[in-house]
Amino acid sequence: MPDFEHIYSLQSTDLEINNQAKRLEGIQEKLGDRVSIEAVQKVLDSLFVRLTEFTAKQKDLEDSISSLSTRISTAEQKLYSGQVVNPRELQDLQEDIAQLGRQRDTHEIDVLEILEQSDPVRNQHDEIQKKLTIAESVWNTQQVKLDEDKLLALETTKKLKTQREEIASLIPATELQLYEQVRSRHPLGKGVAKIKNNMCESCLVVLPASQIQSVRSNSSSARCTSCGLILLPEA
Ligand SMILES: [Zn+2]
Repeated sequence: MPDFEHIYSLQSTDLEINNQAKRLEGIQEKLGDRVSIEAVQKVLDSLFVRLTEFTAKQKDLEDSISSLSTRISTAEQKLYSGQVVNPRELQDLQEDIAQLGRQRDTHEIDVLEILEQSDPVRNQHDEIQKKLTIAESVWNTQQVKLDEDKLLALETTKKLKTQREEIASLIPATELQLYEQVRSRHPLGKGVAKIKNNMCESCLVVLPASQIQSVRSNSSSARCTSCGLILLPEA
């Protein structure tokens, strides 16, 4: 394996291309991912529905109160107008007014109860709305940054691939072929490893002296007995 520096440099480039691909994958996953924001939005929507229900109930009660008030004042006008003189009729009218008054009181108590129930829901809604607005703004900023990161990773990958082609063109075909073959089977995409402190720098297994000697003397291309990578002499 005489062309070890080129092949080692090719491996560094390939590993960097892999890193960029992983980076891109991570960026791609986060781009447009609104899951957490949508979850908060869902909570907000359900609170809004409850508030709408409270408002509708309150409106119904207030309409009733208003119509009862109209009926009471009409009855009172009749009572004090002097038009009704029959005592029985006057008594009925007074009872009607009292009855309408009680209905109105009940409705007014109901309105207060609704306000008591809806106040905490409204506060919670407003609090979440504020948080969501901030989260949306953070998300938008992150998306812009992710777009920039994506562009950068794509540009870097393009440069690395050009660089890779240049380096690969300097390596003899058989060496390149072996490298590609080993690399395709390695979990981290490596094809070669240098010997460092008598160990394979990749898997850290201690290599037999004879093997180290043969790699150093360039007499043969040796493979690490543990991880299978093509061994290169230490720099
Ligand atoms: Zn090894």
